[in-house]
Amino acid sequence: DIKVHFPITTGVLFDRVIGHVKAVDGVDLTVPRGQTYGLVGESGCGKSTLGRAILQLTKPTSGEVRFDGVELTRLAPNKMRGMRRRMQMIFQDPMSSLDPRQNVESILTEGLAAHRIGAGRTERRQIINKTLDAVGLPHWALSRYPHEFSGGQRQRIGIARALVLGPELIVADEPVSALDVSIQAQVINLLDELQDELGLTYLVIAHDLAVVRHISDVVGVMYLGALVEEAPSDRLYREPLHPYTRALMSAVPVPDPEIEDRRERILLAGDLPSPANPPAGCRFHTRCPWAQPTRCADERPVLRDVGGTKVACHWAEQIASGALRAHEVKV
Ligand code: SF4
Ligand code: MG
Repeated sequence: DIKVHFPITTGVLFDRVIGHVKAVDGVDLTVPRGQTYGLVGESGCGKSTLGRAILQLTKPTSGEVRFDGVELTRLAPNKMRGMRRRMQMIFQDPMSSLDPRQNVESILTEGLAAHRIGAGRTERRQIINKTLDAVGLPHWALSRYPHEFSGGQRQRIGIARALVLGPELIVADEPVSALDVSIQAQVINLLDELQDELGLTYLVIAHDLAVVRHISDVVGVMYLGALVEEAPSDRLYREPLHPYTRALMSAVPVPDPEIEDRRERILLAGDLPSPANPPAGCRFHTRCPWAQPTRCADERPVLRDVGGTKVACHWAEQIASGALRAHEVKV
């Protein structure tokens, strides 16, 4: 039941709290060990904040985070240090997350030194070289600086920086969205191989459903700070139940032109509402093509099991069976 609420303040001399941005507003999810959980949703839905809250890089307002049975939100700082090594993050834009004044060796040594891993320079070099091999970078990369590499290679440096500490969980926030499409598959495949070799657990955050499709075992869809649907990956892509998931999916082009012509296309009305002032009832009701008076505007749907998919929609069964038809979308 993780919540992350940021205060909105105003005032010249004294800060006055005038409201809260409910970036994450009560999310429950489990990332199974050795598997990949794909978390998707539009920018501003709270998925990055949730990722950071899981790693304790942002303090949750309330709720618990359990890692390997240990509750992290109330852990003493010295105990948290030991846990931090086991959970690492990969960022979207390697150029802005890597210090341009540090060469690769210094970038990779920093974490080792902070966590006191490796006895001396020789041992650290061995760990670093093994890590470079694992991410497919040559050893001469060590003396070079981030700007000397291509985008794809820079993301490999970002991955190496996370891996060098020997983590168990990696939270990857939009790991390929800053990269050319041709490079994206290489990086996704690398993450996949590393998972097999090292038994890593991933939470992969992306705005693009296509990115997480092949790497994820489970996919969760977020809208305005809440999880609206969660299912095993193949099931979610075969039979999305939540209207929002269906809308996201209908925006992904299909390579086959015949299918592309006949498939469902759902246009969402209006913009994403502000997380400072989310709609009452179902948060999606202001944009949902299936919204029904007055229940959708009055009652917040809870995540419930519908044939193996968890979905937060009052009308999931009726929409899936076609008993409820989408009304015309006002744009
Ligand atoms: Fe749409 Fe209502 Fe379902 Fe929300 S509960 S997704 S508004 S049909
Ligand atoms: Mg984000």
